[in-house]
Amino acid sequence: MALLICIVIVVGVMAFMLKRDAERRAALAAEMARIEADARTQPGCAPDRPFEVEASSVIEVHARGVPCPICGESLRLDQHTAETIRGERMRLVLVTCAACASSRTLYYRIQAKPS
Ligand SMILES: [Zn+2]
Repeated sequence: MALLICIVIVVGVMAFMLKRDAERRAALAAEMARIEADARTQPGCAPDRPFEVEASSVIEVHARGVPCPICGESLRLDQHTAETIRGERMRLVLVTCAACASSRTLYYRIQAKPS
């Protein structure tokens, strides 16, 4: 009888711990989704909110200075490309955070200098 009670207690504790772990994982996933969605609203993180620069030569220097919107650490530049998005020529810089490994695209529009 004592063995049966012990088994019931162990199974009950394990079920409680598994449920609590699942709840924590779901809460963490929801928080990460919220942070990532908020990060996409930051300047340069979407084609409709690009960084404005005067020359392509400053893009990579600028991108290296942008902090990770998730953790604030520095970003590693992975790739620099040019694409036409909604009829507008843009520069895209793919970056990865050195600390949290989140990756994203930074968008740049090259503004012509006023003459
Ligand atoms: Zn980060």
